[in-house]
Amino acid sequence: DVKPPNATVNSQVQINKLLGGLLPSGIDETSCLSRYESALYHKELLHKPSSYLISRLRDYEVLHKQCGPHTESYNRSVELIKSGQYNGSAECNYLVWISFSGLGNRMLTLASAFLYALLTNRVLLVDPGVNMPGLFCEPFQDVSWLIPPDFPLFNQFSTFDQKSPRSYGYMVKHNVISNSSTLPPYIYLHLAHDYDDQDKLFFCDQDQSFLKKIPWLVMKTNNYFVPSLFLIPSFEQELSNLFPEKVTIFYFLSRYLFHPTNSVWGLVKRYYQAYLERADEKLGIQIGVLETDAGPLKYVLDQIIDCTMKENLLPQVNRSSEPIVFNQSAKQRKTISVLITSLSPGYSEEFRKMYWENPTVTGEIVSVYQPSQEEYQQSENLLHEKKALAEMYLLSLSDKLITSAWSTFGYVAQGLGGLKPWILYKPNENRTAHNPPCVRATSFEPCFHAPPNYDCKKKTPTDTSKIVPHVRHCEDVSWGLKLF
Ligand code: GDP
Repeated sequence: DVKPPNATVNSQVQINKLLGGLLPSGIDETSCLSRYESALYHKELLHKPSSYLISRLRDYEVLHKQCGPHTESYNRSVELIKSGQYNGSAECNYLVWISFSGLGNRMLTLASAFLYALLTNRVLLVDPGVNMPGLFCEPFQDVSWLIPPDFPLFNQFSTFDQKSPRSYGYMVKHNVISNSSTLPPYIYLHLAHDYDDQDKLFFCDQDQSFLKKIPWLVMKTNNYFVPSLFLIPSFEQELSNLFPEKVTIFYFLSRYLFHPTNSVWGLVKRYYQAYLERADEKLGIQIGVLETDAGPLKYVLDQIIDCTMKENLLPQVNRSSEPIVFNQSAKQRKTISVLITSLSPGYSEEFRKMYWENPTVTGEIVSVYQPSQEEYQQSENLLHEKKALAEMYLLSLSDKLITSAWSTFGYVAQGLGGLKPWILYKPNENRTAHNPPCVRATSFEPCFHAPPNYDCKKKTPTDTSKIVPHVRHCEDVSWGLKLF
């Protein structure tokens, strides 16, 4: 048969656009342009998604369609919660994710929740919170991932905490489970940073085999808990089948789940096209220093400049008044666009001033941009969060990236982009620059800030970074856990 000459080219474009088969084909393009356009902006995929991951995702999409909001199965399952009666057999099992904390945190927890849902054959349903539908497109075709407002526990999402009688930790503490002959239709899982030893039993196999029986799990967390899923023996094999390259988990899940809405995508594309696209090199600098006073703080600025110079991320400037003569014309010289994101406008002003007032030693032309200066976190404000998402996305389109220690905003950028960042250490307590200023991350996986330190078999405290070779402590949080 005679193929048109560009058939292979077209099919290659098609494969790239679907991120090597990660994304399902055939979803309406105009309602969510970023879904298929993002491949044009990001670098080529660093790894291929495994065929097993692809097939599990396609299976998940079928399950979601069968069990998602307003399906018959969903309606019947919701009745279990209303009646409070559960006889031990349900057609569909669910994981409800409660919207909690800043946007970076929410993206990390939503990806973690999705992976847990995949591992346990549950359907993930998302609390829309204040802004989620304005930020992200629906990832699955036909049936929404958003939990409907008439869901019976909807009004309790904000009040669920450790002390809720339906929280798993509370039930363990008060022997509710062992004393009862029936199963509850739902259990609340408290996995936020302040969780206690009983809440942390979530990460033990034995507790997982109990939780398996509960049709509705409702989860609140502000942590990327994926690394600790690797320490649960019953998940180990499935995880390595899904992700033969373990460091690609957030990279693939974030690219699969998080498609900015057209309005956010407009912010990304317009900024990229206006300020970044034409540069020979793009350096992202994410400044997320917990500041009580407005920046720029001199010691923070000094530390960032020190990092860019020591690691050769930006050219040195010549501060002498002697003019420098370059052999190449301005048009032939390398251009570097620096994209700075920060709540405070001061850092980018200082960088811009430095490269205006002084020439670079080697002749590179450095321009400095900062999309927004929002001054403080405003998680209830949709436009503010749209800008935050657009900025994380723009950072992920850089060639090289500098991030701030502890920042989930930075983790999302590095994960989406598949970039191993240079992480700025937290400045010293006495308000001086940390020396060394930064460290190169060994993977682009996010750090789990509050992992459990418990050996489920021996029932003793343990250093969970020592159990499997690919889970270790993080560069920026010494007790955190991260995949390498
Ligand atoms: P983390 O605090 O760095 O872990 O990140 P989060 O995203 O969870 O919370 C910080 C929030 O503050 C963001 O979601 C934004 O709302 C806001 N924010 C922090 N840094 C920036 C920034 O550089 N740009 C914008 N637009 N917002 C920011």
